[in-house]
Amino acid sequence: MKISVVFTALILASLATPVSASTDLCASINELEFDGQNANESVTTQVEFGARLPGSNASKELRDWFMETRPSFDWTLDPHSRDGYNLTNLEGRLVPENGQDESPVVVLAAHYDSRDRAERDSNQSMVDVPIPGANDGGSGVAVLWELARIIPSMNLSHEVWILLTDAEDQGPTPSMLGAKAWAENRTDEDISRIEAFLLVDMIGDADLKIYRTFPPYVGDEEGDRLWNAVETLSGPLGLLDNITDCDGNPGLDIVNLSTTDGVIDDHVPMLNVGIPAIDFIDIRYGVNATAWQGYWHTHDDTPDKVSAESLAHIGRLLELGLREGAWLDVETNQSDVSPTVVEDQTSTYSPLVTGSVFAVIALIFVAFLGLHESVRLKR
Ligand SMILES: [Zn+2]
Repeated sequence: MKISVVFTALILASLATPVSASTDLCASINELEFDGQNANESVTTQVEFGARLPGSNASKELRDWFMETRPSFDWTLDPHSRDGYNLTNLEGRLVPENGQDESPVVVLAAHYDSRDRAERDSNQSMVDVPIPGANDGGSGVAVLWELARIIPSMNLSHEVWILLTDAEDQGPTPSMLGAKAWAENRTDEDISRIEAFLLVDMIGDADLKIYRTFPPYVGDEEGDRLWNAVETLSGPLGLLDNITDCDGNPGLDIVNLSTTDGVIDDHVPMLNVGIPAIDFIDIRYGVNATAWQGYWHTHDDTPDKVSAESLAHIGRLLELGLREGAWLDVETNQSDVSPTVVEDQTSTYSPLVTGSVFAVIALIFVAFLGLHESVRLKR
């Protein structure tokens, strides 16, 4: 994660209309298979490979481990040089058995490199030493690795591609080198088929807070579609503050899309070529950490700071979205698998209902907040 425009817009989520959770959605939640503990163990595995710097043995070991343990995917490597780095993105495709050539694609992505420096470390003798990258790098890969175990048995009707990007987090300025190369190499056909590019980065913090990130901005049709899907799924999963989940318990304050952070990450090169993309990221790493503080880019980014529960929250959200077809663009596919809202006693709220109101309010608010915007370069 590189440049941050930290910008918090409180967008009156309280206006959301109380409606109800889908009993179908609750049935699907009971079937979820994501194992947070399994994902969490893989964080230690990754850190033990050593610093996953581009071109390193540790980097190769990580790729080999991922491919060997997830053989159902069709893996390809794309070694190349860029800005002085020897990079390799790892991409795996899973195509349905009776899939058609034009089948939609959902891409699940994370950077797998670990940062080559620790510029935020309080110990000056350590600032030039690569960080462990347990959360920043390891957590995203962990969630994708566990999902890749499950996805082959989901019998989805569309393709899923898993993308591990290299060199997101290298050097003094924003790099995202692997993501840039991958985006530039997409054909028009690829771009038209990819209906969601879902990036996970730094999602293992025990004190998990997932806010909406921009770009894409509020009012962007494709971005709103994906963030609205996140909100629709989050309530029944118990990730929305005080919204009753499928077990009848009040939700946790984990997903809060009324707060928005500007984040430049591997999703931005995708947006630049027209791929609908969002970034799941917690930029407040550590209890009570403020944006881009805490353990971020320090030697304290170690496996003990990563929580199996937090990995499970994100993993289950992504899994549920896949099983429900929530990441697909139903308008272009006439898919019948979008999350539905039916009557039931469970009280939650439907962002789909309030989405357009939300967007208009947000735009007005953004204009008002101009004076309060704090723009900050991460380094
Ligand atoms: Zn980073």
